[in-house]
Amino acid sequence: MLYLLLLLVLLLVCGLWWRSARIQTQFLQQLTQALLQQSQQRTPLILNNIPPVFEPLSRALQELLKQLPANNGRDRLTGLPNRVGFKRAMVPLMPLTAGAFVLLDVHRFRFINDLFGFAFGDQLLVAFAERLKQLHHSPRFIARLDGDEFLLLFDEPMDESALNGLKGRLQVPFKIQDTLVSLKLHLGALDLERFHTDISQMLRRLDLALKKARRAQDGLACYAEGDDVAQLRELKIINSLPKALKSGQLYLVYQPKFSIKAQGCDQLEALIRWDHPELGRLSPAEFIPLAEYAGAIGLVSHWALEQALAQQQRWYAEGLRVRVAVNLSAGDLENLALVEEVQDRLAHYDLPGEALALEITEGSLMNNLHQAGAMLIRLRALGIKVAIDDFGTGHSSLAYLKHLPVDEVKIDRSFLLGMENDESARQILHTSIKLARQLGFEVTVEGVETQNQLRTLKAMGADRIQGLLIASPMQAPELESARERLQLPRQAEA
Ligand code: C2E
Ligand code: CA
Ligand code: CA
Repeated sequence: MLYLLLLLVLLLVCGLWWRSARIQTQFLQQLTQALLQQSQQRTPLILNNIPPVFEPLSRALQELLKQLPANNGRDRLTGLPNRVGFKRAMVPLMPLTAGAFVLLDVHRFRFINDLFGFAFGDQLLVAFAERLKQLHHSPRFIARLDGDEFLLLFDEPMDESALNGLKGRLQVPFKIQDTLVSLKLHLGALDLERFHTDISQMLRRLDLALKKARRAQDGLACYAEGDDVAQLRELKIINSLPKALKSGQLYLVYQPKFSIKAQGCDQLEALIRWDHPELGRLSPAEFIPLAEYAGAIGLVSHWALEQALAQQQRWYAEGLRVRVAVNLSAGDLENLALVEEVQDRLAHYDLPGEALALEITEGSLMNNLHQAGAMLIRLRALGIKVAIDDFGTGHSSLAYLKHLPVDEVKIDRSFLLGMENDESARQILHTSIKLARQLGFEVTVEGVETQNQLRTLKAMGADRIQGLLIASPMQAPELESARERLQLPRQAEA
């Protein structure tokens, strides 16, 4: 009996040993084949069912392959042509006089690497490259120019609607290591029938189109005549910003926010102005997005906060007690030291949190909900009020906003446009105001220009209005002269 048992155990051990030896042999065969294929065709090294004992070896091989110099004009990870390979392949195709180039990249790909690790990012890029190869209207040529930048050559023209369709097909979520990842893409296109030049210029123009796409709401843009000139202007603006901040070319104007209940202005919004020595008066609608794009918005916001608080210190000393709202951008909410900076500046000017409000757009909050939410809670604890700016222009619903630590919702002036003669536009506005108030927010409507609009908004329950009907934005001395008319709160020195 004992012998029989021993024999059984021996058989079992042999079986297991044989099975694991078979798995290991199979893996070694697979590895040999993959390495051969990699060295001949520069395809990615993809290995499946790696036995645990071989995991360190396959990791070391992957690392080693990544470090080999780029060869043959091919990208080692995806097997696609790289920038060198692309330029080489275009030589016999020139001149390209029909179809389109599309350059695309992934919004914040770096964050995917940071969040899930580089191995995950690599797998995602390989899967993305495969998807490009399998597109229904397959491109004539595909290349990976840079980290997350891919270039496609199509035989047909690509207008915005074709680009949109392409974007939709490419954005279907990926499943990587049992994790579902959705990508947001930017696509820039160059129409070859209109803009066929040499490869270097075409690449420069495609870069411009992609830059435009990164700033567009829908993430799409086609290169247009004059974009090069526009880029020169943009470069000039970006480059002259640091000097402008130091040399007094920028200043703040203040637009009152009128409380319907109090029948007076209880807040001012600080809006930035720039008198450029060469380009004349620049609209913040032009240079703020550029500063955001160039990563310089922190400088602007810091400057605006500083100016507004310095002004508030003077007004407080004169007994003018009115909250001033400063606009913040998405980039500011990524600054982890924001709360400390605000607190420090308030202390520096000896002002309470009640002197300040901050306006942030819904988009910038949604980008970064967790971190931004935590910062807003701390800012509100200082007595600062927080408003959601341009409400209705993004994708969030009021029901979603109810979880956010904000005090006020500013309804964008586009809501007013159809109000007078479009019953459904009126309904939407009315419902938004009602819902926002039910959720406990104060509601301000922007861009109010007529008495008629004011009457309607009052009936709809809005708390405040802002717009040319009350006052246009003005500099501090002008505002002080209009103090009586605007019913700005006055308080005697304690
Ligand atoms: P916003 O925060 O929505 O500011 C309101 C804009 O509407 C201002 O334009 C204001 O002058 C304009 N406006 C006010 N009342 C009326 C009206 O009755 N009718 C019309 N048609 N327009 C009205 P502005 O000053 O050109 O500012 C444009 C945008 O630039 C602002 O939009 C804000 O997003 C940004 N901005 C301005 N100053 C700053 C700043 O200091 N920092 C940041 N981050 N952004 C700023
Ligand atoms: Ca604002
Ligand atoms: Ca606004």
